[in-house]
Amino acid sequence: MVRVRADLHTHSSSSDGSDSPTELVRKADAIRLGGVALTDHDSVAGIREFMEAETSSELIRVPGLEISTEFDKKEVHILGYFVPLDSKPLNERLEFLRKSRHDRLPKIIRKLNELGLDITMDELLEDLKGVSSPGRPHVAQLLIKKGFVKTTLEAFQKYLASDKPAYVKKARMNTLEAVKLLKSVGVVPVLAHPLTIKVQDLRSFTETLMNAGIMGVEVEYDYSFMGMHRTSDEVREVIQNMEVLHTGGSDYHGTVHYTELGSVTVPIEVIDSLEKLRNAL
Ligand SMILES: [Zn+2]
Ligand SMILES: [Zn+2]
Repeated sequence: MVRVRADLHTHSSSSDGSDSPTELVRKADAIRLGGVALTDHDSVAGIREFMEAETSSELIRVPGLEISTEFDKKEVHILGYFVPLDSKPLNERLEFLRKSRHDRLPKIIRKLNELGLDITMDELLEDLKGVSSPGRPHVAQLLIKKGFVKTTLEAFQKYLASDKPAYVKKARMNTLEAVKLLKSVGVVPVLAHPLTIKVQDLRSFTETLMNAGIMGVEVEYDYSFMGMHRTSDEVREVIQNMEVLHTGGSDYHGTVHYTELGSVTVPIEVIDSLEKLRNAL
């Protein structure tokens, strides 16, 4: 049977997923995906292994990333597709973002200690071996391991979410700046999971991003695992009549989150469309 579906949003152990890039490729092949993109947070460290892992010729791999950005004090994730590994301006910016991710960890630990939780930086560092881009899900995993919470969602809802007591802000790129940087180095920028953005008017926000050069919107996405009762239909409605590519993916993180690889997919032709957009940059 021909492989017709692609999962364009996944994370590896280079950021906050639990599968190595090679394991991710093996799983994508085993479930007979036609395409898979690796989109680690603020990092391209897993891309080489991802692209070089041995697999069937029927699986198309797309090197990607997901940048945490900020627009009007709101967190906005921008996916990028067809990322080069040797782009100096991009790598320098990512390096800065990752440093900020590392720098905030001891502050989060201190806040958790102040809340009475017995948890140390050494324990966290032990879990971060081989991780290029650490995030709050790593802290959540440690909180689960130590029995303070049962799930990642609970860790965020009690401690780590932006309005909760152990939250520490990290440096973020401006959203429009990120879109421009990605395009300038030949990467196709796509707005990730729009319904998680706390803007009043998603339509005018998307229009602003389109004026800045965004080329796609992640329409297919499962919001239920984040405890949100909203669906992709809402996104489709907001962006109807807009000339923008519809993408989608599972946001798979291995055992860290609840979605399965390939649980949200788009037709394989979306990869061709992304490639055409890239070639026109
Ligand atoms: Zn995201
Ligand atoms: Zn993601």
